Amino acid sequence: MSLSECGAPPQAPTVDLLGLRVSNVTRVETIEMLHRFIRSGEPHLVVTADAVALEIAAGDPEFLDIANNAALVTPDGTGLLWASRHLGQPLTERVSGVDLAEQLCATSGPKKFDVYFFGAAPGVAEDAANVMRGKYPGCRIVGVQHGYHREPEAVAAVVADIAEKRPDVLLVAMGMPRQEKWIVDHLPQLRIPLSMGVGGSFDVFSGRVTRAPLWMQQSGLEWLYRLYQDPTKYAKVACLPRFVLRVLSRQRISGA
Ligand code: UDP
Repeated sequence: MSLSECGAPPQAPTVDLLGLRVSNVTRVETIEMLHRFIRSGEPHLVVTADAVALEIAAGDPEFLDIANNAALVTPDGTGLLWASRHLGQPLTERVSGVDLAEQLCATSGPKKFDVYFFGAAPGVAEDAANVMRGKYPGCRIVGVQHGYHREPEAVAAVVADIAEKRPDVLLVAMGMPRQEKWIVDHLPQLRIPLSMGVGGSFDVFSGRVTRAPLWMQQSGLEWLYRLYQDPTKYAKVACLPRFVLRVLSRQRISGA
């Protein structure tokens, strides 16, 4: 079953960036929408896309289809803001997945909804959940699983645990596009109101990875900081020059 058959269609105005429809939303609007998705009870997928996501989408039609049918695709990177300006359809602001994940934890107590953490290396999601519980007393994280189950029985046990806990929000941290594909594969069965891929967020919450300084985030150099922290990310950031070239050549075509 595809996302278009089991999840809510796009819920906000979008900007077409190299074929991927990115929602033109502010951070505040996004948080309000996430709370609305939760209240609706119907399944919604939220994708947080950066420049690497656009390159993944260019080579992976299945992922592109998932993202273009998601309820929201937030602009999670200054690279996307830059591209949107160059292509003449400016996005308003950056809406990062790690911020949204933290906001969901922060508001889960006051707004009374349950969150499940799934993904990252063994022990990381537990630590991340404990940090969030300490920071936001009353925070309702009802389940935690790591993201390295490979045997079908182990995966089935994870799905059964999520189904039993019936969270309102499922945060999946397994990297893109694995996390989005996992959500779409399991959405018909789980029918969780809000599922979101959150990449390395649990590594950040748990303190294993630190976020780039604000000036680096704002000047589009977050990728450099991530590379400095983890040189194995080289393969991921190696696609960024291609992204820049694709945007510039598209601009020349549209400006010609
Ligand atoms: N991960 C996982 N299962 C896997 C592969 C990766 O749980 O099979 C986790 C990994 O431990 C890390 C996260 O997925 O916590 C990926 O983080 P990354 O920053 O690479 O994701 P991105 O935001 O770049 O998509």
